[in-house]
Amino acid sequence: MELRPDLDEHTFTGTVAIDVEVATTTDRITCNAAELVVLDAAVIVDGERTALSASLDEAAERLVLLAPSPLAPGRARLELAFSGLLNDRLRGFYRSTLVGADGVEQTIATTQFQSTDARRAFPCFDEPDMKASFGVTLVVPEDLLAVSNGAEVSRTPLGDGTDRVVFADTIELSTYLVAFVVGPMEATDPVDVDGVPVRIIHPPGRGDQTAFALEVAAHSLRWLVDWYGIDVPGGKVDLVALPDFAFGAMENLGCITFREVLLLVDPESADQRELESVASVLSHELAHLWFGDLVTMRWWNGIWLNEAFATFMEMKAVEAWRPDWDVWAGFGAARAAALDVDALASTRPIEYPVVTPADAESMFDVLTYQKGAAVVRMLEQFLGEEAFRDGVRRYLADHLGGNTDNEDLWAALETTTGQPVGDLMHDWIFRGGFPLVEATVDDGRCTLSQRPFRYDGLDDGSRWQVPVRLRTTVGEQRVLLGDDPVVVDLAGTLVTVNAGAAGFHRSRMDAPHDPGRLTAVERSMTVDDRWAATLAGRHDPAAFAGFAASFVDDPDLAVWQAVLRGIGTLDLVAPERHRTLASEAGGLLTGIVGRLGWAPANGEDDRTRQLRGVVLAAAGTLADDPGVIAEARRRWSSGGSADPAVDGAVVAVVATHGDGADRAECRRRFEASGSAQEEQRHLRALALFGGLTEVEALLGEVHDGTVRTQDAPFLLRSLLAHRHHRAVAWRSVTDHWEDLTGRLPSNSIARMLEGVRALVGAGIDPEVDRFLDDHPVPQGALMVAQHCERRGVNVRLRTRLLG
Ligand SMILES: [Zn+2]
Repeated sequence: MELRPDLDEHTFTGTVAIDVEVATTTDRITCNAAELVVLDAAVIVDGERTALSASLDEAAERLVLLAPSPLAPGRARLELAFSGLLNDRLRGFYRSTLVGADGVEQTIATTQFQSTDARRAFPCFDEPDMKASFGVTLVVPEDLLAVSNGAEVSRTPLGDGTDRVVFADTIELSTYLVAFVVGPMEATDPVDVDGVPVRIIHPPGRGDQTAFALEVAAHSLRWLVDWYGIDVPGGKVDLVALPDFAFGAMENLGCITFREVLLLVDPESADQRELESVASVLSHELAHLWFGDLVTMRWWNGIWLNEAFATFMEMKAVEAWRPDWDVWAGFGAARAAALDVDALASTRPIEYPVVTPADAESMFDVLTYQKGAAVVRMLEQFLGEEAFRDGVRRYLADHLGGNTDNEDLWAALETTTGQPVGDLMHDWIFRGGFPLVEATVDDGRCTLSQRPFRYDGLDDGSRWQVPVRLRTTVGEQRVLLGDDPVVVDLAGTLVTVNAGAAGFHRSRMDAPHDPGRLTAVERSMTVDDRWAATLAGRHDPAAFAGFAASFVDDPDLAVWQAVLRGIGTLDLVAPERHRTLASEAGGLLTGIVGRLGWAPANGEDDRTRQLRGVVLAAAGTLADDPGVIAEARRRWSSGGSADPAVDGAVVAVVATHGDGADRAECRRRFEASGSAQEEQRHLRALALFGGLTEVEALLGEVHDGTVRTQDAPFLLRSLLAHRHHRAVAWRSVTDHWEDLTGRLPSNSIARMLEGVRALVGAGIDPEVDRFLDDHPVPQGALMVAQHCERRGVNVRLRTRLLG
């Protein structure tokens, strides 16, 4: 295919030739197209060209081509010429912008095709199991860079100010993995990773922020080649940082696209969380090159395994690179988010039938990524890491270049392990929810039983095959818990029934917890299990701070994050209790804030530095610690410190207590940011200012388009949970509903509405649910229903807190 984008007019024209096999005699060929004008259509059989009539059904996104007489079975070539618009909705073939060094705005033409938007760039058979080799040619202004899936084969000036750039044909690919980017971008020199050239394509002037990602990419590619036992598919890797991107990143073979903040980073000014998110997302996309790109799901119902597996692999690759980051402890927060949604009546099974594009789009949520990854991890830990890897290798080898159903993976794992993997996985995948595993200990024996864990307390009779890992003071014992209770003879004293927090379940044991015998991830899970039980109504919410007091000496980041999630929610649902809450939070935080201080100690590990930022931010915002606020203000005025995690806390604390002048300064720093991380830090802080004027100013900047559409949904989500003015934010969202849902990326609307969970308390419109009923979001209907139900859990929490 050949495409000519016009970056000034925001249009493109193109031609595509598709080799097809006519299976049965027909005069009708149907493929996919949307928002395109077909200028010419023909079919060529044995060198003979016949014009086709083309009609586009926009509602069905289908292009119907009719031949004047029936085509006989055999080979044929379709040739189509078409034109389209470079849209600003961040899907299909779209435009992004950047401001050059001269202050002039310039356009980038780029693509995002998953799930069903390749059809917006060129007519095609837009289904994952209709793989093809793509030969991409782009005609672009001579001064612009152009990249696509394949390596550049030639670049020829056409004499009219444009160049024709021909890219190597790809391996057989699904359409959703095709990509091309044209713009005033720069490329790093390729890094040679055992014969595979890896480059970063970035906006001009940001080349000094590429070293970190190149180092991670080199490590993760080598680690993945070794783990999968297969060379890098596609043979070259370009990593492209885009100023406007609806998703986090996209695994287009050879041409992986990212939000800038998830690829470009200055390690000096980024904190550990920001570095880890770059390393994780990059490793996630690279893991897809094998699992997703080379071997691909047959249909969109399989997307969850694609994403769950890549999320699981990102953790393993980063764990191998930086064991000191303890990424599985960090995963505790993601797992908690999945358990939180999965405890609702409106949860869903991981896998469900996908019929429409909206069904496919709905699958990109916390249940697919985080629950999916947690369930894969549970299976890996049950089967053993090597046996699991061998099964995956066998699966890939059996289906190289092809399409699969999820059962194909279970079958390969059954062959290599001899375990009934398909049976075990069935309930986890086709049934929503998860169990509460209860352990009662009596006379050296432990009785295990299960029932569903739900915030509404209902037991609908669901049961799972639960691989339980018990740990006693002597060692680990493994049990597969089914419908009926199991009695286990304990070798020692019971320590936990969820060793390594690898099981996707909550647990309750009648024996006391001994934090001294638990690992960091197990302690954070213990806190989180208690918090979830509080939400479910089994503990007095006012007693949570007292429970958390037994962890005040904990040195681990994940444990503190779990404590602060609970405390933060208590503050969110009952702002009128803020003074009481602030004093409780202060009591919890004094010790650790005093111990860690403001400056990193020599030789301190990255997670402890991150913990300092987390507890200082909490002390200054939740606990209103006057000393911390004063020191944050001092550091804000003197302009920066030696530590990025502390800098992040300073911005959050100053914004939370700041006035109009501070806001103006925060905005100035946002605009002057030298890195995407600094930019995001200051942008996020704009949503924290307490005053109504400042909240209205930000809402204005969202609605008038000053804020990029990729960022607007996340700011609105924060504002909907604003300490004082969430009602104002909600009114503003409802007043601008048509504009927001029409202008912001389709996949971001339901994410923005997550803020609805916080719409509790005085002055809140009682008609929130009705408004959302009357204004459906088809591509995120279930997610919105979950936000509403979760809001109800917060309402009940509030009632219980305020009595
Ligand atoms: Zn992914």
